[in-house]
Amino acid sequence: DRNMKVHNFNAGPSVLPNEVLYKASKALIDFEGTGMSILEIGHRTEHFTAVMEEARSLVRSLMQLEDDFEVLFLHGGASTQFMQVPMNLLESGETASYVDTGVWSNKGIKEAKLFGYVDVSGSSKDNNYNFIPKQFTVPPQARYLHITTNNTIYGTQWSSIPETEVPLVADMSSDILSRQMDFNKFSLIYAGVQKNMGAAGATMVAVRKSILGKVTRKIPTILDYRLHIENGSMLNTPPVFSVYISMLTLRWLRDQGGVAAIEKINNKKAALLYDEIDHNPLFRANVPNKEDRSKMNVTFTIDKAELEEEFLKFCKKEDIVGIKGHRLAGGYRASLYNALPLESVEVMVEAMKYFSLKKA
Ligand code: PLP
Repeated sequence: DRNMKVHNFNAGPSVLPNEVLYKASKALIDFEGTGMSILEIGHRTEHFTAVMEEARSLVRSLMQLEDDFEVLFLHGGASTQFMQVPMNLLESGETASYVDTGVWSNKGIKEAKLFGYVDVSGSSKDNNYNFIPKQFTVPPQARYLHITTNNTIYGTQWSSIPETEVPLVADMSSDILSRQMDFNKFSLIYAGVQKNMGAAGATMVAVRKSILGKVTRKIPTILDYRLHIENGSMLNTPPVFSVYISMLTLRWLRDQGGVAAIEKINNKKAALLYDEIDHNPLFRANVPNKEDRSKMNVTFTIDKAELEEEFLKFCKKEDIVGIKGHRLAGGYRASLYNALPLESVEVMVEAMKYFSLKKA
């Protein structure tokens, strides 16, 4: 049995719903009465193709995607998308526009430069990425504009979708399916599934068919979105177990009432924690502008540097895990993904209050 008391604030891989874990552990022994483990069945059996189709269609319905979209579950993590996106969308000698909001955007920029020109239309680098740049101009000839909707390391998040005339591409790895949005405003959305959508191993890509096939370069088979689409996201052996966990997590989300319902809880969790950070004299939020604060990764510091380690130790004693900040941002980071219960945030807030009083 796992310790149900642990409050898991890890940034990803991260907390998953208990019922998903129970179902997945059962499927590891006997998958739906087949007498075989989910790890043992062929990916082209009707049993697994049903899993893949259900996962794809749940993404489509939860995000309310138009028919032009195709949903894929691929290998290689979001990091592979950093190069697969420009390889499929950016014509050599032409320009793509990127907004630089931190480490992950930069990794995307670096890969895009292998395929064409990159125009960095906006950046928050000068302030250690503690805000979302909103004043920027996208060259009209850009093949696409790329944004990172949620910046896992720095704790910033786009509160609205930027208006642009060019196709919009987004890395949504750390806030996928956490809030309502008009996803049809995008042309391509990708996310490693290991935060809000399942276990590491699969990457979700939702892409409009109408933007594909417009570059002249030769695309290697395994990197060509069109071939994955033609083959029903089964061009080669998919990450079977990871797709299965995603399917279970998507079902769980649907049964919670979908994105609208989870957004309400996510808003509550984030408000509770930011409110404590803003009112507790010992702590300070990394992101000053409230509109730019991430509801998924709450980053903050302690005003007395000598207490930094002590607070972590205190949290550990209270079964609060995963709140050490990324080394580039320092301080603390509490990740509040979909599967993290409100109760865990309440425990965290109590711990902050208690620690602060004790040290006053
Ligand atoms: N993009 C964002 C916003 C992330 O948070 C991460 C990982 O944390 C990545 C990309 C990289 O994802 P992967 O490890 O799946 O390649």
